[in-house]
Parts: sequence; structure tokens; C-alpha cells
Amino acid sequence: MNEVGALIVGGGFYGCHIALALKELGFNRVRLIERENGLMRRASYVNQARVHNGYHYPRSLPTGMSSRRNFSRFVEEHSFAIVPNVQMVYGIARNSRVTGSQFARFCSEIGAPCREDKQAMVELFDPALIETCFSVNEIAFDSTALARDLAVRLNAAGIDCRLGVSGRISSWNASSVLVETSEGPVRAQYVFNCTYAYLDSLGIRTRNRIKKELAEIALVQPPRQMKGRAVTVMDGPFFSSMPFPALSCYSLTHVRYTPHMSWSKPGDDALRFEGSRSEAMMRDAMRYMPCMSDSTYLRSLYELKAILIRSEDSDSRPIVFEQSEDSERIYSVLGSKIDNIYDVHEYVKQKLWPLQ
Ligand SMILES: Cc1cc2nc3c(=O)[nH]c(=O)nc-3n(C[C@H](O)[C@H](O)[C@H](O)COP(=O)(O)OP(=O)(O)OC[C@H]3O[C@@H](n4cnc5c(N)ncnc54)[C@H](O)[C@@H]3O)c2cc1C
Repeated sequence: MNEVGALIVGGGFYGCHIALALKELGFNRVRLIERENGLMRRASYVNQARVHNGYHYPRSLPTGMSSRRNFSRFVEEHSFAIVPNVQMVYGIARNSRVTGSQFARFCSEIGAPCREDKQAMVELFDPALIETCFSVNEIAFDSTALARDLAVRLNAAGIDCRLGVSGRISSWNASSVLVETSEGPVRAQYVFNCTYAYLDSLGIRTRNRIKKELAEIALVQPPRQMKGRAVTVMDGPFFSSMPFPALSCYSLTHVRYTPHMSWSKPGDDALRFEGSRSEAMMRDAMRYMPCMSDSTYLRSLYELKAILIRSEDSDSRPIVFEQSEDSERIYSVLGSKIDNIYDVHEYVKQKLWPLQ
């Protein structure tokens, strides 16, 4: 029987970071298992690649503020994975839930730079549908660069990474947890469930409930007017088109068409394709941005998105760092966006871990 100090299930951005944080804290036998054949192949790869800087949340000051806090640190520490020379433009739709002046006021409240961009307005948008637009300080990250960096750091830290290995918790006692993995049983002093959309399928009860949403990201070659730009149209059932650096193209996502279906029952987590909605996304985007008619649809990526269903008395931070009610040696971790990793780091560091 294999015995380890900590077993991390899930090699996405969160699992990799937790493995590194535990090693730093003094755990000496840290193992990570990932059922895909590489690190960061699921939600950490199939996403919009936006490093949030608060602009997305004009109706939630606390979320805007916390994104601002994490943004600078993320950019500083991951400059190797940041796509250079792309100007993010936020277009404010005439039927948006916020007006242009409310958006500008919100940016100033959270201290996020924004300037009205008349040139982008002329080059990109239909003024009948878009009231105004702003150039802001927000960026895209290259998930493949993040994955390469994490692989090097995990290796240097001596973390035992097992790829193509899945696991499920089978039992626990006061001093350890038994995980059945596809390469045999592992006994761990602590287990970290970092499986994101599969958080509630690991064989333990979770207090924080999640809704799973099948999301479609259309990949496109953008029109020439988008060169060096990214666009987000706010605030309501609109769309974004941003660099997707991992495949040297752009993503197109739409608030109405990207989510295909959702469910919250555990154990029903297969990806089920029922046909692309890219045409509907493109058609609607063209109404607001006529130049999108010169873009080319390439293909779509599909992924499950985990959305936290908060109970009334819960913490309002959009992350989970939950000690299991089944065993105090099992933790479930979920971050709603990449830069929330710093909040998770805090939880890991604040806790006292009686070590082996
Ligand atoms: C459509 C979409 C768009 C998004 N856009 C953004 C964005 O623009 N900006 C942003 O910051 N965030 C965005 N997010 C959120 C972000 O992608 C996630 O917060 C982040 O990737 C979660 O990382 P993770 O490591 O928890 O999950 P994942 O990367 O999914 O890692 C979980 C891993 O667990 C593995 N696993 C599951 N079950 C088992 C098992 N039993 N045994 C072994 N391994 C297992 C999976 O294979 C997977 O690799 C988006 C998410 C989606 C889905």
C-alpha cells in the first residue's frame, strides 16, 4: 500500500498550486493524481482566459474590489503567461443593466483605469446598439504557459505527479484517508479534492453545493479591426471575444448561448454535446459589432463550469475551502476564477497542519 502525507486529486491550476503550497509548509510526501494525461487539461485550459480586474462586476463592488486586489499580483507573478499588447475594450450596450456613466463611476470607485475610446467606438460598434465604449486595463493569460511553469515547479519541489490516474475516496479513520486510485490504493494523511466540476463526485459529502453548466466556447479568427484588441459587451445577455493564446486564435462566448444546460445533482457529470450554438453567437455579435461578419468560425471547445450555489449563511467569497464533515482530513477546494488562487493560498497558510 502506498502511503503519502497529502494526496491531491485533480491537476488543474488549483490542485497544482495546493500541492506546491503544502510542500512549502513542510509536507514531505505530496502526491498529485490527475486523470487526464497532462496537467491543466480541463477547466484550467477551456476557459475565457481573462485575468479579471474588476470591470466585469459593475453591480458588485466587493467582487470588483477583490478582483482588483488579485489582478496586479497575478500579472506580476505570471508575466511569462500574459498576452502582450492587447487592449481590452468594454462596450456598453444601450439595453445594458448599467449605463456608460455608471460603468465609469464604478471603475473609479474600485480604482480601475478606464477611458472612453471614441476610435474603438467608430471602428468596432454599431452606435444604435452600443451607447459608448471604454479602453481598460485587463488581459488574457496563456493557460499552456501556466501549465508548463507549474510542471517545472512541481518537479523541482519533488512532488510526485501521477498523470492518467483517477481516484475516489473509499474510507477514512482518525489518522488517515484511503483513496482507491486506478493504480492501486493510497493511504493519505490528508486528501485535497481539487476536481472542480467533479467536486461532489469523489465519494464524500460536500456542504457547498455546485451547479454544473455545460459551456461552449467558440474559437474564431477575429476580423482585422480586432487586431490588438479584445471586446466585452456589457451588462446582460451579451458577449466577449478575447485572445485564446493556447491556440493562437480568439474565443467568442455569449451569456445566452455559451451555457447549454445545467444540473446540480452529483454524479451526472458527463459532457454531452448537442450541437454547437456558434452560429447564434456569431449572429448576435454581428448586430453589435458589424465587423464580426469578417471573422471565421474555427471550432468549439466544451467544458463543465462549476458554479457555487451558496447557502444563505455562507461566506460571500466565491471560493470553497471546505473541511469535510465526513473526515477532518479531507478538504474540498474550488475557485470560481484563476486569480482566486491567492485566497486559497491564505486558507492553506492560516491552517495548522499537524504533520506526519
Ligand atoms: C467556460 C469557462 C470559462 C471560464 N472563464 C474564466 C476566465 O475568463 N477567467 C478566470 O479566471 N476563470 C475562468 N473560468 C474559471 C476557471 O477556469 C476555474 O476557476 C479554474 O480553471 C478551476 O481550476 P481547477 O484546478 O479547480 O479545475 P480544473 O482545471 O478543471 O481541474 C480539475 C482537475 O481534476 C481532474 N479530476 C476530476 N476528477 C478526478 C478524479 N476522480 N481523479 C483524478 N482527477 C480528477 C480533472 O481531470 C481536472 O483536470 C472559466 C471556467 C469555464 C468552465
